[in-house]
Amino acid sequence: MSDYTINTKCVQAGYTPGNGEPRQIPIYQSTTFKYNTSEDMGKLFDLEASGYFYTRLQNPTNDLVAAKIAALEGGTAAMLTSSGQAANFFALFNICECGSHIVSSSSIYGGTFNLIAVTMKKMGIDVTFISPDASEEELNAAFQENTRAVFGETIANPALTVLDIEKFAKAAHAHGVPLIVDNTFPTPVNCRPFEWGADIVTHSTTKYMDGHGVAVGGCIVDSGHFDWMAHADKFPGLTTPDESYHGITYAEKFGNAGAFITKATSQLMRDFGSIQSPQNAFYLNLGLESLHVRMPRHVENGQAVAEFLANHPKVAKVNYPGLPGDKYYDRAQKYLPQGGCGVVSFEVEGGREAALKFMKELKLAAIETHVADARTCCLNPATSTHRQLTDQQLIDAGIPAGLVRMSCGLEDKADLIADLAQALEKI
Ligand SMILES: *Cc1c(COP(=O)(O)O)cnc(C)c1O
Repeated sequence: MSDYTINTKCVQAGYTPGNGEPRQIPIYQSTTFKYNTSEDMGKLFDLEASGYFYTRLQNPTNDLVAAKIAALEGGTAAMLTSSGQAANFFALFNICECGSHIVSSSSIYGGTFNLIAVTMKKMGIDVTFISPDASEEELNAAFQENTRAVFGETIANPALTVLDIEKFAKAAHAHGVPLIVDNTFPTPVNCRPFEWGADIVTHSTTKYMDGHGVAVGGCIVDSGHFDWMAHADKFPGLTTPDESYHGITYAEKFGNAGAFITKATSQLMRDFGSIQSPQNAFYLNLGLESLHVRMPRHVENGQAVAEFLANHPKVAKVNYPGLPGDKYYDRAQKYLPQGGCGVVSFEVEGGREAALKFMKELKLAAIETHVADARTCCLNPATSTHRQLTDQQLIDAGIPAGLVRMSCGLEDKADLIADLAQALEKI
C-alpha cells in the first residue's frame, strides 16, 4: 500500500482480504477471544505474541481501521479511541505524569483546553499556553525542566488559526520532547503533520473522517520518529520496566516505531477503557473510504462561502485561512496548499441580535454544535457554547457576539450562497 497515493489508501489501506474473505472489513462484535491453551493466552499477556483477548484493550476491526489511518498519516502505528477527547488525553498522559508540564498553543478546541487547563491540572500536570504566533524566543521561554510535550492544532477549532508546525517541532525537539498535533480539521488528505516534523498526531474522527455525523471517535498515530531512549530520563514510562506488564521496557522491546502505541494500548486502554466500539470503527471506515473525495468539496464550498461573505456589506469580518488577506493565509499556503477545511467563521454587522435573526432565517444550514459533516451547519457561540460570557469578555476571547461559525457541508455552493444571501438580506 505504501506506494499508492493517499486517495487509494483512503479506499483500500489497512485491510487486504485473503481468498474468499469478506470484501468489506468484518465487524468483530465480540468482547472476548478464544484460546486452546492457557499457555497461548499467556503469551499475549506477556506481550510475547500479538493477538486479541479482550475488546477493552484491542479489537481486530478497530485495528484494521487504525492501520488505515496510520497509512494515511504516514505513521508506524495507530490506535482508535472512543472520542477525540480520549485521543488527546491518552496522547498526553502516555508521556506525562504528576509533576510534568506541557507547552500548548492557546488556540485549541475548548474541550481540549478544559482537559489540559482544568482536569489534567488536577492530576498535577501543569501547562503553559502560548500564542500560535509566538516568536521562537517566546516559544523557547515557555519550556521548563519538567516539560514533556508540546501540543497544538493544525487548524484550530473554532479560531481557524494555522499552526506553524515546523517552528513548534523545532522548539520541541530542541528541548528533547515530542510535538503532538491534533490534525482533525485538515485530515491527512490536506495536511500530514509528520512531513513537517510532528511526532504524534491525534484526531477527533467524529469530524471529517466519519464525515456523516454518525459516530463519535478518536485516533492517535505515532510517526515512529521520536527517539525515546535518547531522552530516557524524561520518559521513564517508555524507557524503564513497566512493573504492571511483567517488567517490559516498551522502547526497548517495540522500538521507536511501536513503543508509544503499545504502551497506550496495554496501559492506558487497559486502565481507562476508552475503546471505540467495533461498530463505530466500521462506520468510521465507511467515512474514510470517501474522505479524499469529500475534503476537496468541503474546501471548495468553504472557500466560495468565505469569498462571498468577505464582499458582503452586512459582514464585518471573515476568518478563513484560504482567503487572501486572512492573517493565516501565507501559513496556510505552506502547510495546506490544497486548502484546509470547510469551516468558516464570520461576524455579522449588528452583533448578537443580527446573528440570531440571520441564523433563524437560514434554510439549508441547521443550528448545531457539530462541525465537519456532510450537511452544512452553523452556531453563534455568544448565545450557545459561550453564553455565560459578557459582550466584553466575548471580545477579549476573540469571539465577538455577532460571530457565526459555519461548517460548509457537501451541498452545492450556489445553494449555500443563495441561502446565506437571503438570510443576510433579512437582518
Ligand atoms: C471535536 C474536536 C475534539 C474532540 O473530539 P470528540 O470526538 O468530540 O471527543 C478535539 N479536537 C478537535 C480539533 C475537535 O474539533
